[in-house]
Amino acid sequence: KANRKFHPDDTKIKINDDITIGGGSLHIMAGPCSVESEAQIVDIAKSVKASGATFLRGGAFKPRTSPYAFQGLKAEGLDLLKIARKETGLPIVTEIMRASHIDMFENVDIIQVGARNMQNFELLKELGKIDKPILLKRGLSATIEEWLMSAEYIMAGGNDKVILCERGIRTYETFTRNTLDISAIPVVKALSHLPVIVDPSHAAGKSWLVEPLAMAAVAAGADGLIIEVHNDPPHALSDGAQSLTPEQFDKVAKKVFALKSSI
Ligand code: PEP
Ligand code: MN
Repeated sequence: KANRKFHPDDTKIKINDDITIGGGSLHIMAGPCSVESEAQIVDIAKSVKASGATFLRGGAFKPRTSPYAFQGLKAEGLDLLKIARKETGLPIVTEIMRASHIDMFENVDIIQVGARNMQNFELLKELGKIDKPILLKRGLSATIEEWLMSAEYIMAGGNDKVILCERGIRTYETFTRNTLDISAIPVVKALSHLPVIVDPSHAAGKSWLVEPLAMAAVAAGADGLIIEVHNDPPHALSDGAQSLTPEQFDKVAKKVFALKSSI
């Protein structure tokens, strides 16, 4: 179902009737790694919207490497995202970690499956039964074939609203947090009809690398970007080192939109 051979046209995913992902326009999803408080999420939502972001991202359930690290505000985080959506009109993107939470995510605009759950096949099967866009991140060490098979798991159940997200893969290089696989963009676009967005933040691991990776992604044909933005990166509860300030995000957004309109 994800294969372009049987579906030559690009898939366009409509969100709230006025936004279409795939098929030409560039969308930026921006916001903090973790939702931390109402003031934080509303403040960030307003500034990223002013810079041209069309979605608010924010983690409520966080898949942290250490069990002692901040695990997210959970259900309260979802409520705060909805408050920020109400204040700004930005649709929300947030990560799900288990199938039993699907009902809780009913009012979320795009459900994210994180890299660590890309091959949680039971979760993917359950997400295949709902009618909601799924942002499927590439696994930490997943091949393109494995990633597309995970999309297939969701689509096999009847949910064809899958958005792929390249977020860097693990290689022998350790300077960057992950190695952004730029080639994956044209490869996935050749093999599949699904929209592809890029997360330069988790690939880079360093805020100063976000801009060049975002530019490269747009030049390579990405349908969108998902970028971490925090109002106080040094004190962020997760991923501060790779988070842009709202001012830095504004500059990056201007550059990527200018690049997009020139190609
Ligand atoms: C995130 O988006 O904050 C996240 C945990 O991403 P990934 O699953 O790509 O590591
Ligand atoms: Mn993060």
